[in-house]
Amino acid sequence: REHTELEWSKAPCRFCGTGCSVMVATRKGRVVATHGDAEAEVNRGLNCVKGYFLSKIMYGADRLTKPLLRKRDGVFHKDGEFEEIGWDEAFDIMAEKFKKTLREKGPKGVGMFGSGQWTVWEGYAASKLYKAGFRSNNIDPNARHCMASAVAGFIRTFGIDEPMGCYDDFEHADAFVLWGSNMAEMHPILWTRLADRRLSAPHVKVAVLSTYQHRCYDLADLKLTFTPQSDLAILNAIARHIIKTGRVNQDFVDKHTTFKRGNTDIGYGLRPEHPLEQSAKNASAAGGFEDMTLEEYEAFLEEYTFERASEISGVPEDRLEALAELYADPDTKVMSLWTMGVNQHTRGVWVNNLIYNIHLLTGKIAEPGNSPFSLTGQPSACGTAREVGTFAHRLPADLVVANPEHRKTAEKIWKLPEGTVPEWVGAHAVLQNRMLKDGEINAYWIQVNNNLQAAPNMLEETYPGYRNPDNFIVVSDAYPTVTAQAADLILPTAMWVEKEGAYGNAERRTQFWHELVSAPGEATSDLWQLMEFSKRFTTDEVWPEDILAAAPDYRGKTLFEVLFANDQVNAYPLSETKEHPNHESDHFGFYVQKGLFEEYARFGRGHGHDLADFDRYHEARGLRWPVVDGKETRWRYREGYDPYVTAGKGVEFYGKPDGRANIFALPYEPPAESPDDEFPFWLVTGRVLEHWHSGSMTDRVPELHKAFPNAMVYMHPEDAAELGLHRGSTIRISSRRGDMMSRVETRGRNRVPRGLVFVPWFDAHQLINKLTLDATDPISKQTDFKKCACKVEAV
Ligand code: SF4
Repeated sequence: REHTELEWSKAPCRFCGTGCSVMVATRKGRVVATHGDAEAEVNRGLNCVKGYFLSKIMYGADRLTKPLLRKRDGVFHKDGEFEEIGWDEAFDIMAEKFKKTLREKGPKGVGMFGSGQWTVWEGYAASKLYKAGFRSNNIDPNARHCMASAVAGFIRTFGIDEPMGCYDDFEHADAFVLWGSNMAEMHPILWTRLADRRLSAPHVKVAVLSTYQHRCYDLADLKLTFTPQSDLAILNAIARHIIKTGRVNQDFVDKHTTFKRGNTDIGYGLRPEHPLEQSAKNASAAGGFEDMTLEEYEAFLEEYTFERASEISGVPEDRLEALAELYADPDTKVMSLWTMGVNQHTRGVWVNNLIYNIHLLTGKIAEPGNSPFSLTGQPSACGTAREVGTFAHRLPADLVVANPEHRKTAEKIWKLPEGTVPEWVGAHAVLQNRMLKDGEINAYWIQVNNNLQAAPNMLEETYPGYRNPDNFIVVSDAYPTVTAQAADLILPTAMWVEKEGAYGNAERRTQFWHELVSAPGEATSDLWQLMEFSKRFTTDEVWPEDILAAAPDYRGKTLFEVLFANDQVNAYPLSETKEHPNHESDHFGFYVQKGLFEEYARFGRGHGHDLADFDRYHEARGLRWPVVDGKETRWRYREGYDPYVTAGKGVEFYGKPDGRANIFALPYEPPAESPDDEFPFWLVTGRVLEHWHSGSMTDRVPELHKAFPNAMVYMHPEDAAELGLHRGSTIRISSRRGDMMSRVETRGRNRVPRGLVFVPWFDAHQLINKLTLDATDPISKQTDFKKCACKVEAV
């Protein structure tokens, strides 16, 4: 590809779940420019500042180009120094460690951690290699820290994952309510669509709820700064107001919903022996999932008056009532938007359910402008992490490993004997870290994420597992991240348009791109690594005799032959790739991406998750699934938009056997840890506009680094003054788990209330996750990064 002229091609942005389309210019085998794609419905020619600098993310000075292994005296040593090696040696040592672990500990001894940054086929291949090849469900995505509560919320209320609405809702809504979401910085292009609507239609209102004031407050008509965890009480107070003022949409509720009582899920997802976990078990009442009546639900809500919700949340009663009126007014179309503030929460699933409650009570759902909408953080959190089944409990298209019929479906599509996929639910993200520390998982592979920087309580619960002498840790990455530096073997990885890819964004839109440039040095895609590694194992080495006996043709074959080069995946010839470079297909001898995609698509077609034919996505600017008879679906569950709704029903929540969504009675509960005399501040962590997640890509772009070079501790100026501090003071911030040095910021974009500090987590030199608590939602197992107790001291 030696060109002198610019060549322009489309690709989705590498960063957030908004899924903007960008035009990418290449010259002489290098990406030299990007701009927003004017033909794209999502972003209409715009990009945020991160998107504008996409052309530079691949060209950081410390890009990894060769495998690196820790060695001493020429051989692997856990405490050795990294030395360059070849791919054969890398896979040899990896295979040796994985085989030893599989022999000694069985499938539960190996693990993998990926993310919604995997392309669709990479996540699919990883899940297939682990769940069918190694027969281990110990694979989980970084989406566990990000979207797991949203997933469980969807499944519990609707029986099927992913939002019913789409981005078109922005142009139809009369009110926007942001629940713990700083869209202006985290989903800036969607924020421009929201701001366009607010500024061009004077009647439109914007309500922002958060634990501190951020940039979205600049546009807010209604500002509600609440005490961490009190969103549970606020949502119940809104539901109570809707009922008490006679604004329940009775016809909708009667036809389309069921009221459900209580919940059996208790605790904070900490280690069972943790004192906070012990106290949670004593404090929480168990309940069931029995049906209840509207009257019983009303009685349950009785205690959630505005007065009580105000006491718990600190929000004045009149603001709570004004917020409730947006939902209660039958003439106001409401779009609720949320992301980490709701999901990273020890009761995150409940909060998702409670938001759906108020949309269901009023019938404001699944139609243009009436839309409870869960936003995602990763570019393919929906399309890969969730839909292809990379969670420890899932299989593609909402199937789960615990259901024998679901396993049979997967085994049939994969042409594997019954019983190949194990029935046990694998270890989730935080549990994987604990198992590594405890020596229960010994061979572990991390792709497309920076888990050590991202994981909670990193010094006590995460780092020890990486350096446990019994463990062998492999990290695939483009850069030497904090996680890679703690590994034993680093595999250099191709990124973004250095490979052919597909992402699925937050509105169910699947978007493809072609390989546009080659990866540097010996870097290869995650897909290449997964498939090449699978050649190192034969079925005899990893499958028990009963499985082998049921599939005699597979005996002695490599996992590569059984999983990736079978006649189903190997059905599309290399000649189909001739228009575009494709390193993986050239290497393996068939159109790898198309074969994997078409096999994966068989799970969803006819089951509400229909994807279009592979080739169509390379032409279109993305399509929103289900795609039936060539047409995408904008609003699910609504007749006229969704082909799965039975004619004449109007609305049908077909994810549930009875076609009804659940309205749950769920209480307010206190957080796992709250400020006290020793640690008097709330610590809230989050992100900033200029950096994407752990900053491993954006912090290597000079312009973005200069725009926001270091993390800082946002404090209220009076709190700072009481401690003898001022803007720029050097401080130590600490919790019961760890500490770090930083500087005070009392002005700027974030204005925090007294008693709370906000710290961004992108900075690899300020690891705030040394302080955070590894409490998780007991249902979704998602970590609560939004609240723990800390103190700030001058140094
Ligand atoms: Fe769009 Fe998100 Fe990329 Fe910004 S980071 S250009 S909002 S996809």
